[in-house]
Amino acid sequence: MTEKFTAQVAVIGGGPAGLVSAIALAAAGVETVLIARPAQADPRTTALLAGSVTALTTLGVWQACLPHAAALTEIRIIDDTKRLIRAPEILFAASEIGLDAFGYNIENRYLLAALFARAATLDKLTRRSDTALALESDATGVTVRLGKGQVRVRLVIGADGQRSLCRASAGIGTRRRTYPQTALTLNVRHTRPHHGVSTEFHTESGPFTLVPLPGRSSSVVCVLDPVRAAELSAMTDNALSEAIERGAHSLLGPMHVVSGRGMFPLAVEVADSIARGRIALVGEAAHVVPPIGAQGLNLGLRDAATIAEIVAGARREKSDVGSPGVLASYQAQRHADVASRTAAVDLLNRSLLTDFIPAQGARGLSLYLVERVGPLRRALMREGVMPAASQPRLMRGEMV
Ligand SMILES: Cc1cc2nc3c(=O)[nH]c(=O)nc-3n(C[C@H](O)[C@H](O)[C@H](O)COP(=O)(O)OP(=O)(O)OC[C@H]3O[C@@H](n4cnc5c(N)ncnc54)[C@H](O)[C@@H]3O)c2cc1C
Repeated sequence: MTEKFTAQVAVIGGGPAGLVSAIALAAAGVETVLIARPAQADPRTTALLAGSVTALTTLGVWQACLPHAAALTEIRIIDDTKRLIRAPEILFAASEIGLDAFGYNIENRYLLAALFARAATLDKLTRRSDTALALESDATGVTVRLGKGQVRVRLVIGADGQRSLCRASAGIGTRRRTYPQTALTLNVRHTRPHHGVSTEFHTESGPFTLVPLPGRSSSVVCVLDPVRAAELSAMTDNALSEAIERGAHSLLGPMHVVSGRGMFPLAVEVADSIARGRIALVGEAAHVVPPIGAQGLNLGLRDAATIAEIVAGARREKSDVGSPGVLASYQAQRHADVASRTAAVDLLNRSLLTDFIPAQGARGLSLYLVERVGPLRRALMREGVMPAASQPRLMRGEMV
């Protein structure tokens, strides 16, 4: 007797990594069910690097994002510590590696709206506004119990964020390190133009980053010790605007806070395995990194593009899309990218926090070399935008 399945794949979680996974699968003809509970307000913005923008363009999502996005043509890093050994200022220009922009910055609410709108147009994608309560994998599939009813699929894509039920159900542990840091996020209007330059001030408590938004506005990610973050967050708009302008050394002139404030305690966390027992993890269910160098979601979108490509291939060959071979291939293709990015971001963040002089010296020397040695700087930029270890088809402008 042939077993009845609701769909081939269930994607659990309607954040950006889950939505991109579901859209890519359905656009490739894979019957997919997206289990997404109603979105909560996300006050953050995301700097999407060129590969992610190409993937969203290929999936028919980017046109709706573009009016709300600002191009990032240059990235400036300024050592704003008061330490003995300080790194030189570095300016990375996209034109040095033949690009118009490293990527674009967009408010998450616009990105999510564009993704939900695209998801609604795909015949092969069924959307369930629900919460996954329990998952049970067996030899032929996974049963997912929902708030209302259940679904039965060959493969689950766990896109359910940091406290992932999918990860726990697959019996996958994590290595997690919390930092004594909280990111305060907000958007500001300013009087001077940003000219597409994103500026990252490295301070003793972490990075303070201004990222362009359309017009004379920018998003601010301010990484601080949790007590100071709470103090700033409790300030009036006027007092906070002045504090942010001081942090930015008035680079963009007087500032005015314009939108909701977000507070995000920081950690680095990596799952021991990215897939097991017919459950594949994408995005923050698989890895969490602090907001330095815009790595987090860009890494998550490469997960989404990779699993969609492997599953679409298995479907074309009429084989089981949740087989051990599919999961092993996903694990093999994602390992180097995830391991190298999480380690690099963790190291960079810890080198800012440390009072250990040799570590500060090593950081200063590395940045000095990057500043002085053109080929090294260009290699670093290319690697940042399009990592050699991971170039899924969507990131190259091809459908999965
Ligand atoms: C301050 C800050 C700034 C950042 N800036 C950048 C940046 O510039 N560039 C970048 O690339 N990255 C950035 N990141 C990282 C980026 O925000 C995250 O990587 C991204 O939001 C993770 O997306 P996700 O889809 O994996 O998870 P989430 O956005 O957390 O989505 C998970 C979804 O799953 C749902 N869910 C959970 N459990 C269930 C369940 N049982 N059933 C159904 N649904 C469920 C949740 O409701 C949620 O909608 C930043 C992070 C921080 C903290």
